[in-house]
Amino acid sequence: MHTEIGAVIPKSLDELSHDEIRRKTLISKIMTRTLNYLTNELVEQDFEWLLPVVFSKMTDPLWPDPGASIEKRIEVEIYGETVRTTASMIIHKMFASSLAFPKLFILSPNVRIEKRERQGTGRHAYEFTQLDFELRNGSSKQVFRLVEGLICGLVKNLRRTSKEELSELGTFPELRVPKSPFKVHDAEKLKEKNGSDWETKLAAVIDEPVWVTNIPREFYDFQDFEKDSWDNYDLFVPKYGEILSGAKREFEYEKISKKIERDGVKRESYALLLKLAMEGRLKPSAGGGIGVERLVRWLVGAKHIAEVSPFPKVPGLVHEL
Ligand code: ATP
Ligand code: ASP
Ligand code: MG
Repeated sequence: MHTEIGAVIPKSLDELSHDEIRRKTLISKIMTRTLNYLTNELVEQDFEWLLPVVFSKMTDPLWPDPGASIEKRIEVEIYGETVRTTASMIIHKMFASSLAFPKLFILSPNVRIEKRERQGTGRHAYEFTQLDFELRNGSSKQVFRLVEGLICGLVKNLRRTSKEELSELGTFPELRVPKSPFKVHDAEKLKEKNGSDWETKLAAVIDEPVWVTNIPREFYDFQDFEKDSWDNYDLFVPKYGEILSGAKREFEYEKISKKIERDGVKRESYALLLKLAMEGRLKPSAGGGIGVERLVRWLVGAKHIAEVSPFPKVPGLVHEL
């Protein structure tokens, strides 16, 4: 089965041919080294490695986000309480960085039942993993330098350790160590110039990773009401587009409260966050989340993101595993 981007819909492990299994194992080597490199780097830089959670009362509203496309939100009842599966650990990160861990990261499974028409985008799976990190009192600039260091260091490391695998996969020697600092674009300006599909157009013209800032979206990203701008960012890589989203965070009760109302998000769902902010215990922070599969998709040149997963979760398709 083919998609509109010419990708074959990734199959389940038991359906793969000998050659397809070979490709899967090569990709898996790159995934292993990527995770090893990034987690080692963060640990070296004094980040605490937290374990993820699956069920919580609070999770990312994923709203409003012009790119959001969720077919179904998973809610289940346990012990007489309604809990949701993790859409992202953003709220947990705000609590954790404020209350206990000034520098943290989490390899966090995210469940987002993307609309089935996203089957062929090549960028969407309905389960994926974010390498989510947060810095108490952090700034966008700090996050930019941190991520640039990680991405450049990773590519450098893979070019040294994984030349054979990347050559067979077809991305060596073209995959170059990017030049840092990466260029920064303003989303509003990109939209003015290129229209609503600025993201696709941007990915098609860049030949180095770039930052995009000032993107109107969820209440927890910092918004400067006076300047009418957002202190948030996405990282785009050539051809494949967005691989990270993040922001400086809101921490003041009045602002969070106002934005929740404005966005039509259920206040009850974020009662504990509001309480923490009201008590002045929510601290300023900045962070982001790297879509691990999207990062590896770029490194190995996979047409469909689910090719990089051992157990593909393609929108609209449910395999046994
Ligand atoms: P998109 O606009 O591409 O649908 P998003 O902006 O809605 O994605 P975020 O909420 O910013 O996604 O999620 C944080 C990161 O997680 C993204 O930058 C991306 O790397 C990854 N990600 C998001 N959705 C998916 C998905 N369905 N499959 C794989 N990775 C994803
Ligand atoms: N991980 C993202 C962040 O840190 C949140 C998201 O998943 O949308 O902002
Ligand atoms: Mg995003």
